[in-house]
Amino acid sequence: MATRRTIGVGWTVAFSCMMIGKMIAHAEAPTGPTTRCDVLLLGAGLANGLIALELRRRRPELSIVMLERRPGPDRLHTWCLFRSDVPAAAWSALEPLFEARWSGYEVAFPGHRRRLSTTYACLTGPALSGAVAAALGDGLIQPAEVLEADGTGARLADGRAFSAPLVIDGRGAEGGGALRFAWQKFAGLELRLDRPHGIELPVVMDAVVPQEDGYRFLYLLPLGPDRLLVEDTRYSDGPALDVAALEQEVVRYAGGRGLTVASVLRREAGVLPITLGGDFAAFQDGHPASLPAVGLRGGFFHPTTGYSLPRAVAVAGLIAATHPLESGVVAQRLRQQAAAAWRHDGFYRMLNRMLFRGAEPAARRRVLDRFYRLPQPLIERFYARRLTLWDKFRILTGKPPMPIFRAVGVLRDRPMPARTHA
Ligand SMILES: Cc1cc2nc3c(=O)[nH]c(=O)nc-3n(C[C@H](O)[C@H](O)[C@H](O)COP(=O)(O)OP(=O)(O)OC[C@H]3O[C@@H](n4cnc5c(N)ncnc54)[C@H](O)[C@@H]3O)c2cc1C
Repeated sequence: MATRRTIGVGWTVAFSCMMIGKMIAHAEAPTGPTTRCDVLLLGAGLANGLIALELRRRRPELSIVMLERRPGPDRLHTWCLFRSDVPAAAWSALEPLFEARWSGYEVAFPGHRRRLSTTYACLTGPALSGAVAAALGDGLIQPAEVLEADGTGARLADGRAFSAPLVIDGRGAEGGGALRFAWQKFAGLELRLDRPHGIELPVVMDAVVPQEDGYRFLYLLPLGPDRLLVEDTRYSDGPALDVAALEQEVVRYAGGRGLTVASVLRREAGVLPITLGGDFAAFQDGHPASLPAVGLRGGFFHPTTGYSLPRAVAVAGLIAATHPLESGVVAQRLRQQAAAAWRHDGFYRMLNRMLFRGAEPAARRRVLDRFYRLPQPLIERFYARRLTLWDKFRILTGKPPMPIFRAVGVLRDRPMPARTHA
């Protein structure tokens, strides 16, 4: 039987590791020769991967070095997005990386199933890692644990040092103490089944399941005729995730659909931030002002899903178009972009507070059920962060998803005392 694994708050863990890393660097790291390049990318995750590809495409004259602590390709992630999330040119640039794409997707609630025709696609960690390795060649250095970095360079544990006019920090989540979050957390298995599953389209939410730990649904991605990624997902107040328990639920769910598992091909799990509020300026001040931060570290994620692929695409385009490519210039542009996005996203944070603070966990499914009865273009604009005033009105009107006196209480962004249960 699998041992119990629990995932905690990625943000807190990441921040602690960074501080410990800095202390070790000051105390122990030997000094060594310095490698110079035009662009130094810290971390080979989603955000920096897309930046590397975009810079190679649009600025091929640049020498790029990427430092990644992982010894091999990323096998953890499947990143998905809707066609409507990004402009046409960005979609075309991503297409070679897609492992699968579908002409629509489905959602299911008790008494309400719906098929939407928005194209959906996914790229996988190995595909992105492969493309980055091919684009950078010797410029991709791994495993390479960055211990210390600023806007002029970085140093590794083994003493190697790197310097560049532009350094970009894409090392994932970092201390988000200034922000308040709820969590979308999930654990999933990519299954090989003993026969074709017959599922044509992704099921982005199958909420016809017992509700636990907040809003619970299953997520299904048919990656091949007999390959299916199934994730048990919860929209919860807390970040703790019992991976083994959710994996068992996945197997149970598959059995309930009449599917027999031949083998488990891959596992993935995540705890993604759903932003409720906080002080974004303080969040930004927690990071060195002259070191450009991208991805989760820069605050570039969707406030309601925690997803970051569409915003990583936009940031890659922004950086490739910046002149001169210097840390100070890029850092300032990114900080301005992120701060503007934070102001723009206030409506989403209010919805999140309504979902997590205004609705009892058991009522959250009704909120999502109602949302998925809205017109498809509105749903597309919601995920693309392009809601119109009319869309916002549509989302808030109609049969209220919660008693109105509770809704009023969550309109303002302020810390809430811990909820007590009688
Ligand atoms: C399993 C999973 C599935 C997800 N699915 C989606 C999805 O479908 N769509 C979507 O938009 N979002 C999705 N997300 C959310 C989000 O897009 C991802 O978390 C995304 O990978 C974040 O991008 P990033 O570049 O900020 O960080 P990451 O992709 O996590 O990259 C950070 C990289 O930095 C490296 N690193 C960290 N510290 C150091 C160090 N000191 N030295 C060297 N290297 C270091 C890490 O090893 C890692 O490779 C998912 C998240 C998870 C966990």
